[in-house]
Amino acid sequence: MDLSEVPVSAHPQSPLSPADQTLIDGVLAGQRRALAKTITLVESTRRDHQERAQQVLSALLPHTGRAIRVGISGVPGAGKSTFIEALGNWLLDHGHRLAVLAVDPSSSVSGGSILGDKTRMELLSQREEAFIRPSPSAGSLGGVAEKTREAMLACEAAGFDVIIVETVGVGQSETTVAGMVDIFCLLQLPNAGDDLQAIKKGIVEIADLVVINKADIDPRATAVVRAQWRNALHMLRPASPNWQPPVLTVSALKKEGMDEFWQAIEGYRNALTPTGEFEEKRRRQSLDWMWQLIDSGLRQNFRHHAGVKKSLPHLSQAVAAGQTTPAAAAHALLGYLNPES
Ligand code: GDP
Repeated sequence: MDLSEVPVSAHPQSPLSPADQTLIDGVLAGQRRALAKTITLVESTRRDHQERAQQVLSALLPHTGRAIRVGISGVPGAGKSTFIEALGNWLLDHGHRLAVLAVDPSSSVSGGSILGDKTRMELLSQREEAFIRPSPSAGSLGGVAEKTREAMLACEAAGFDVIIVETVGVGQSETTVAGMVDIFCLLQLPNAGDDLQAIKKGIVEIADLVVINKADIDPRATAVVRAQWRNALHMLRPASPNWQPPVLTVSALKKEGMDEFWQAIEGYRNALTPTGEFEEKRRRQSLDWMWQLIDSGLRQNFRHHAGVKKSLPHLSQAVAAGQTTPAAAAHALLGYLNPES
């Protein structure tokens, strides 16, 4: 079959079962239970569930894309959950519907989750217009992130117009989340010198907005840190000529600064929509995502190939012992995937 002639909307799998159709109808009607079930399906590692999840997501896809996707990152203790609770309640009071998802690299190690603790976001979690979902707890960060991306689409189809993806400032997770949201915000403590840490880790470059929390503790120190951050950001060439990442100060505990924060989010969208950059970023993210899936699929096929399984141990040994060059070993192993070449 020539795949180039397959209509892009057609799904080669079996037609939707009545149960999945009910799920789709429930999500489109904004039912939180149907949404939760869909995300559970998305997160399942069972092959038949995965197939169903892809069919359900394909049906939901035309109804996605209307939300604003906000990434919030910060070290443990920066005040992420307090901030999301304050912002979330503010947003709901202003007529929005909010979904909060998490990408948590520690959850795959400890089995815990940054959103797993029920006491977090207590008020928000009780409100009908909010949907809070902990991080999927299995698999590599890449796997977890993939599920979160798909969960995000399901939330959008369910009519949530603001999606917050929360992550802890550890390892790769920040870059991963920055690659799936419209605007990436760094939540910082008012500690002098933290900006240097962020610069070293290369995080400043991916921040579209910096928020210094806990301004209530020491307003003067907060002002100093704000100035430091502004300087640090000014030294960089901004990702867009139409957006200089602002530095805001807030107090999540006192619920102060939420309106300024939301103004900045809307300011970002308003600045980059007319220039086409907003949509372009999403297009690029979708293509990157496709390539990540292709890469991981190829890698998986490769590792499961019988010939690779057989030859990998002794070729690895030969490379480690300096008896074979890495290039020759890689060439021999890749040959299994493409025997005719
Ligand atoms: P997370 O680990 O980033 O989610 O941080 P939490 O939201 O759990 O907050 C860590 C601690 O900082 C908690 O004891 C909060 O009450 C406190 N906290 C959070 N935001 C503020 C704030 O704006 N001011 C003050 N004084 N404390 C805060």
